[in-house]
Amino acid sequence: MMGPAHSLSGAAAWLGVGAAAAALDHPMPWPVLLGGALISSGAALAPDLDHKAATISRAFGPFSRGLCGVIDKLSEAVYNSTRGQGERRRSGGHRTLTHTWPWALFLGAGFSAAAVFGGRWAVLVILFIHMVLAVEGLLWRAARVSSDILVWLLGATSAWSLAGELDRPGNGADWLFGGQGMEYLWLGLPIVLGALVHNIGDAITISGCPILWPVKISGKRWYPLGPPEFMRFRAGAWVETRVLMPLFMVLGGAGAVFALGVLG
Ligand SMILES: [Zn+2]
Repeated sequence: MMGPAHSLSGAAAWLGVGAAAAALDHPMPWPVLLGGALISSGAALAPDLDHKAATISRAFGPFSRGLCGVIDKLSEAVYNSTRGQGERRRSGGHRTLTHTWPWALFLGAGFSAAAVFGGRWAVLVILFIHMVLAVEGLLWRAARVSSDILVWLLGATSAWSLAGELDRPGNGADWLFGGQGMEYLWLGLPIVLGALVHNIGDAITISGCPILWPVKISGKRWYPLGPPEFMRFRAGAWVETRVLMPLFMVLGGAGAVFALGVLG
């Protein structure tokens, strides 16, 4: 899928988690619901950091371009050193390491640890990164034609005001994990979710996605998971923009209504 569909699916998935959390008696205060949806929508662009032309690789200027080069090389090395006998050696790491469940968990755990141990500035940086990505993903064309500086400013002001809301008592810094010093531990959850939803979105396109690595499936460690061939589509196809994107909006809206308990 393309950026906007990935981002919408990430946001919808978090709103769905919000509905489930409400049903399980851990209702999200609205800043957690909104902030988590935006973080997840931004995180849903992150796995493509292994691809030069991807939005995330261009979103932070030379910093993200450099990181993209490193991630691409790392992915290629991990692919080639763990591939099964039937799997061809490849150059370039696109859709390998960053498109797996261990990578999603690693990212989420890393950001959670940074949020818990790094204090307020770490939280602000995490929010900033994901707000910029959310703007790039959800506003897409509008973000493309405007300057990077404007997008960064919008990301920074969103991160700042979101952190301000979350910090108020009862507003969600301690959602789900209420212990002393566990504030913002939950920040890793929408990050894991966004990455997984991205992988599922890629899995339903023609090339599939090796989500389950390193679990071996029919002799392949990098088995491209996906539905039967006839259910797959080309990235950017009409199914994506005319069917899936509206569907994500409807599901996300329904999730938000339940999560906030609007219906009583
Ligand atoms: Zn991808």
